[in-house]
Amino acid sequence: MELDIEKIREDFPILKRKIGKYPLVYLDNTASSQTPRQVVDKIVSNYENVKANVHRGVHTLSQEATALQEHTRERVREFINAGSVREIIFTRGTTEAINLVASSFGDSFPDGGEIILTIMEHHANIVPWQLLQRHKNLTIKVVDINERGELDLDQYRSLFNKNTCMAAFCHVSNVLGTINPVKEMIAEAHAHGVPVLVDGAQASPHIKIDVKDLDCDFYVFSSHKMYGPCGIGVLYGKEELLEKMPPYQGGGEMISHVSFNHTTFADLPFKFEAGTPDYVDIAAFAQCLDYIDSIGLDKIEAHEEDLLRYATERLLEIPGLRIYGQAAHKSAVISFLVGDIHPYDLGMLIDRLGIAVRTGHHCAQPLMERLGIAGTVRAGFAVYNTRSEVDALIDALNRVIPMLS
Ligand code: PLP
Repeated sequence: MELDIEKIREDFPILKRKIGKYPLVYLDNTASSQTPRQVVDKIVSNYENVKANVHRGVHTLSQEATALQEHTRERVREFINAGSVREIIFTRGTTEAINLVASSFGDSFPDGGEIILTIMEHHANIVPWQLLQRHKNLTIKVVDINERGELDLDQYRSLFNKNTCMAAFCHVSNVLGTINPVKEMIAEAHAHGVPVLVDGAQASPHIKIDVKDLDCDFYVFSSHKMYGPCGIGVLYGKEELLEKMPPYQGGGEMISHVSFNHTTFADLPFKFEAGTPDYVDIAAFAQCLDYIDSIGLDKIEAHEEDLLRYATERLLEIPGLRIYGQAAHKSAVISFLVGDIHPYDLGMLIDRLGIAVRTGHHCAQPLMERLGIAGTVRAGFAVYNTRSEVDALIDALNRVIPMLS
């Protein structure tokens, strides 16, 4: 059955906004997607009815808030098919989750160890590994791409050796849209005894994730890209690895007993959740996963694929327009440039016509350098976007390009 996009759009009040006199066409979903009323209502209702600190109080509100937070943990477990809630750690987002793994799991890396990354990584999956290099003698090796923006898998395979201690790569590129063959890449790493972190920030809103099937050691993602609240994310880690890892941060919630002589830590998952979490938003995140499931990720993916095909076709009608990223398996994000027009100029002018796109390096400066450009304009699609919004983007570009050429 086809999705009723107009009905879905009704769930997102922000889509009724105008920018000046133009209706908002929101195409910056790769950065953050919009949040449906059902999730916003849940946040308000949590603040109005159950705001109390979790895991600390014997009183009713605290117990209810704790139950809501732990319900979300179970809901996330189910959503990504993890084996246990002990494997689900709440973080502030993908960035914090990767920092946690780099800092805590990276603690065990031997001097002389090698980490395999790819040229298409977001800074969040580069800099935390570089920070580790301040304390350890580690080498970072980088997998290149071909002209379509697909990873060079032969090179990837050739990078493993006895010193390789980690491979970390994105499931989907936030610039090129490339969907990487992560299952095969994980199997290859495991054949060399190397653990793998998958940055799922751009996959989780669009593709069904099954961490057991992927057999990844760590999988990370952010709620705000999944129609959910800002400031929360998830680290999935295999229990046997998380058990052995030292805490990332110290403080309340993550201890079993504290004295000035000796402190013992809480069990999983709380060992990695120091301090008061954003339990109000965590609780609402469950609503968000329910919302996605009520539509169906397969249907969301099919709708976005249609938008990707249509938008690619229409964009390529524009003389001088170049698309960066033409992978055979691609998610609904399109990065492009027109002639030698600066992406900021294009982005700013079409914003005046109501079109919200992303411009710049998209936190992927090494990739920009590899492509020999400073940045791109990026349109990223979500379930509520329509073909007529693609037409509005094309009309806006056709209006402003002559002014900038
Ligand atoms: N990884 C990828 C592939 C991303 O696209 C992003 C955000 O755009 C991040 C990591 C960082 O996510 P967050 O800012 O939610 O921590």
